[in-house]
Amino acid sequence: MKPVPFTHEIPKSLQLADKALTGDNSKVMAGGQSIGPMLNLRLVRPTTIVSIDQLDELQTVHIKGDVLSIGAAVTHAQIEDGIDDVDLPTMLRHVARSIAYRAVRNKGTIGGSLAHADPAADWVSAMTALGAQLVIRNAHGKSRREPMAGFMRGAYRTALQQGDIIVAVELPTAMGKALWGYEKICRKVGEFADAIGAVVIQPDLKYARIVVGATEDAPLLLDDMAREMARTATAPSLDEIDGALAAHLPGASRVKRQLLKTALSRAIAKVIPS
Ligand SMILES: Cc1cc2nc3c(=O)[nH]c(=O)nc-3n(C[C@H](O)[C@H](O)[C@H](O)COP(=O)(O)OP(=O)(O)OC[C@H]3O[C@@H](n4cnc5c(N)ncnc54)[C@H](O)[C@@H]3O)c2cc1C
Repeated sequence: MKPVPFTHEIPKSLQLADKALTGDNSKVMAGGQSIGPMLNLRLVRPTTIVSIDQLDELQTVHIKGDVLSIGAAVTHAQIEDGIDDVDLPTMLRHVARSIAYRAVRNKGTIGGSLAHADPAADWVSAMTALGAQLVIRNAHGKSRREPMAGFMRGAYRTALQQGDIIVAVELPTAMGKALWGYEKICRKVGEFADAIGAVVIQPDLKYARIVVGATEDAPLLLDDMAREMARTATAPSLDEIDGALAAHLPGASRVKRQLLKTALSRAIAKVIPS
């Protein structure tokens, strides 16, 4: 199928992008890896597409004080390869490498992935585990910050409003020294996840987070388990993990629960080897 006719704007600055996005039926396009098929299938029918992937403001990666800021239009491949002299947390490069195929990673952007909010996508789980914040700019040029935990409201639903653009993803630089485990189960390399387990512990920040992803909803946070694991430095048993999953995901099939349990226990084992 072909998209419905639309106007394509390629603004030269964020201010011009804001202007182009004032219409009710306009949509941002970054790498086009997800919105492209949606246009073709007519699942979205915008009258204006505003391309933002060439905007310099969204390409910058820098460290300011104790915050690492990654521009929303930075591609998965750039993160996989490493960015100039910026010391990226190793977890980011690992996660980027496991997304799709290199051709998709060359075009797909971190901001596009978070905005699209596919429950099985890698960045939504990884950035929730790392306690990332999103810098979001509205169509009037005002910026706000939203914690990643809470930004995704459900499958393909986020806190973004019409005209909003994700400008950057921010992380504490201390996350570069975090202990982490990230495990993705998928049927073949390059596919979306059937299950994701992500664990991040940063003792200096007294930070511990366990995330279960690809649940068909927003990433699930197991805060009690994370606190207990950080306090005792002991991995939860498989039964404890299963019990937590059953309590939080009562509708999940036994197969799905088994996949999630396996992904999470493998991620935990990377942080607390048995
Ligand atoms: C074959 C294939 C396999 C894939 N496998 C995986 C996988 O294993 N894991 C994984 O995580 N992903 C996977 N993806 C998705 C891929 O990571 C995409 O890059 C990502 O979903 C969207 O990024 P994009 O930059 O292409 O966004 P686009 O397709 O351009 O946009 C996606 C959505 O986000 C909005 N948007 C984009 N940028 C912004 C922004 N800065 N601010 C506000 N809204 C914005 C758009 O309006 C649109 O609604 C796969 C994609 C393909 C085609």
